[in-house]
Amino acid sequence: MADVIVLGAGPAGVPAALAAAEAGASVTVIDANDRAGGQFHRQLPRDLDVARPAALHHGWRAAATGFAAMADHPRIEHLAGTRVWLVERADESLIVHTTGANRTSLRGRTLVLATGATERVLPFPGWDLPGVMTVGAAQALVKGQGVRPGRHVLMAGTGPLLLASASTLLTAGTSIAAVTDANSLPDWRSAVGAGRRTPGKVVEAGAYLADLARARVPYRPRHAVIAVDGDGQVERALVARVDEGWHVVSGTEESYDVDAVCVSYGFTPNVGIAAALGCELTEEPAVVADLAGRTSMDRVFAAGEVTGIAGASTAALEGAVAGSAAAQRAGFAVARAEVRRQVRRRERHRRAAEAVLAAAPIRGGWSTWLDHDTIICRCEEATYASVRHAIDDLGARDVRSVKMTTRCGMGLCQATMCGPSVVDLVTQATGRRPDDADGLAGRSIAEAVPLGEL
Ligand SMILES: Cc1cc2nc3c(=O)[nH]c(=O)nc-3n(C[C@H](O)[C@H](O)[C@H](O)COP(=O)(O)OP(=O)(O)OC[C@H]3O[C@@H](n4cnc5c(N)ncnc54)[C@H](O)[C@@H]3O)c2cc1C
Repeated sequence: MADVIVLGAGPAGVPAALAAAEAGASVTVIDANDRAGGQFHRQLPRDLDVARPAALHHGWRAAATGFAAMADHPRIEHLAGTRVWLVERADESLIVHTTGANRTSLRGRTLVLATGATERVLPFPGWDLPGVMTVGAAQALVKGQGVRPGRHVLMAGTGPLLLASASTLLTAGTSIAAVTDANSLPDWRSAVGAGRRTPGKVVEAGAYLADLARARVPYRPRHAVIAVDGDGQVERALVARVDEGWHVVSGTEESYDVDAVCVSYGFTPNVGIAAALGCELTEEPAVVADLAGRTSMDRVFAAGEVTGIAGASTAALEGAVAGSAAAQRAGFAVARAEVRRQVRRRERHRRAAEAVLAAAPIRGGWSTWLDHDTIICRCEEATYASVRHAIDDLGARDVRSVKMTTRCGMGLCQATMCGPSVVDLVTQATGRRPDDADGLAGRSIAEAVPLGEL
């Protein structure tokens, strides 16, 4: 039995594993990816290793030191390419069931959930054409495969990741037609004010903006991609000016000839395993965790974006704290002064991140970009017209009713992609958030698993 099982080997999971192992605990780290790094420090496959991996990464040196320390640590075992589909509680321990490269059931005295977040996607006409992808997918292509998302790309959405991702794509040699942010520059000024608490982040954002300026990429606040079309793949993107609520200002539409559109509308915490275990969730939904990363369930800790979106540096600090706390719960002594220092730094980083995110909200006007045939649920090909029919004609007032009448959220991704949009559409139609808004997150089997394994 491992003293600590860490689920996720991203910016939160790696420091969690190292902190727990340093305290003397035996640690098993499990991650679906073949190499450590998570979303932010996604690594190329070993056989594609390049001479200068740092070129595409921010904060690579510290991350690489962490990966090496984890690989060399005698008390850490890393199960890569392995997905966790179920966690069960047992007396004084937890049982973790896995599939993929390592199909097994492991027992741990404690568990650190560092499962990160999935990207929020907004539907718009043509968003299901090949060539439309999230900035995370573009980043996965570049950092994880050494492949550019397109030759001439438009980047659209809102928030700081647009800048970070544009910088990565430029470094990889992609031509960017423009970066459009549906929110405005004044919104961003308040975030920069809050960023004074974490000057490193302001410098980082400045460097990204400088990259855009050097490459002469236009940055267009209050503009959005409202439709994409092409013959079997992206050929054109329609960009329009939007007002404060993201309604299109008519007569401002213009067309861009591009072969890819990369979108970023923020993240949704990946709470599937936590919800199935019964951990308390916030409305977001994110896992409720205290300063030490303790969740509402004994022996279960959480760190990083599964507890709320706040960026890689916050995730790393939270991971270290939660790893120490998990080791302590498993019976090991930890260096309290160091943990207190990390908690203080984490508070600063999280407050600054919250201010940045507050400057980049999603506004309801996005639903006016849709036409009747726009797909909302890609897995089940449920259209906007079918969702409207469920709400307007059949009286659906909660997510479950929309799901039952349209099949939204019943496919392979189990509402990971369409769920937040359905919640928004019901909220817009009824004027209140549906009572079962977080119900989409809760199912006991968190990952697709072959029946034979069940
Ligand atoms: C395109 C893009 C650009 C970004 N740019 C920046 C930036 O400039 N600055 C910044 O601070 N942040 C940035 N971020 C955000 C940053 O990636 C996150 O803050 C950070 O990765 C969060 O770390 P985490 O460890 O909480 O989660 P993640 O990095 O998401 O790691 C979670 C890990 O858990 C694993 N996992 C989840 N569920 C399971 C399961 N059931 N079984 C097995 N494994 C599982 C996943 O495979 C993943 O490796 C960016 C993100 C993206 C997508």
